[in-house]
Amino acid sequence: MNSNAVALYARETPGFDARVTSAVALLQDAVAGHTGQIVQATSLGAEDMIITDLIARHRLPIAIGTLQTGMLHAETLALIGRIEARYAVPVEVYEPVAHSAIQFVAKHGERAMYDSIELRKSCCAMRKLEPLSRMLERRSAWVTGMRREQSDHRGAVGFSETDANRRTKFNPLADWSWADVWHYIAVNDVPYNPLHDQFFPSIGCAPCTRAIAVGEDFRAGRWWWENEDAKECGLHVSQHSSDAQVAAASRSEGVSSLVPAQANFGSAEVKGSPEPGRSQNENAKDAACMSSRPRPHSFQ
Ligand code: SF4
Repeated sequence: MNSNAVALYARETPGFDARVTSAVALLQDAVAGHTGQIVQATSLGAEDMIITDLIARHRLPIAIGTLQTGMLHAETLALIGRIEARYAVPVEVYEPVAHSAIQFVAKHGERAMYDSIELRKSCCAMRKLEPLSRMLERRSAWVTGMRREQSDHRGAVGFSETDANRRTKFNPLADWSWADVWHYIAVNDVPYNPLHDQFFPSIGCAPCTRAIAVGEDFRAGRWWWENEDAKECGLHVSQHSSDAQVAAASRSEGVSSLVPAQANFGSAEVKGSPEPGRSQNENAKDAACMSSRPRPHSFQ
């Protein structure tokens, strides 16, 4: 079912202009402290599209990079070209190492992410964490669209944090509401993923994302067959992760140099069947898998 996300969610709330001003000021400070060494790691979700708009609108020297996991919806992939056309900025595209992806699927199958938490996290390590490590190489800071409202797990997100690899991570929209996000998109005509019009508030890889129902949590459509404690892919891990978590991560299948970034690996139970969400996404998944060919700006 289609709706219109702007019509549904956009609402101007007190302090909106001040939050925009603060977000821009934070990005300017980030540039001043990390000149030539800062990248926006965009998931191409609504929040990240706003950050890209702010970077372009204020001509901030912040590179823009994204992870092409090979499993994205066609609608998500199309945003890369839309950004480049709209803002005349290049998007760095980081893909998994081809032989790692082939070997993983050959060994564990295309549905491995549904079989166990460990295999799901290993898939995320191979398709997201390793490419992210290349995006962040020789960079001292990155920018994300994380917001406190997105989940309990993100409720304490700061405007600036130190990640597990001691880089500075800036979250300029940390205090924005969902209404703020869509008000900004509406006012500034920011391009966004049409899946947001189909009740996908948080969009990741096609096999691991479904639409949410009325009353469901914001991130209920991500890895919906897992329990709540496991619902992160390991991209956003703070410096304060415990040694025990890191040790557990090092035993997981994946890339050993990424151990700190995998510190959210756990032994949470798998619950329920993935089939309902999977069937919603099957066509998009097939299209996304076929579209994983190298792109002009890709960094393999
Ligand atoms: S979100 Fe799903 S498909 Fe994407 S990398 Fe993680 S497990 Fe693999």
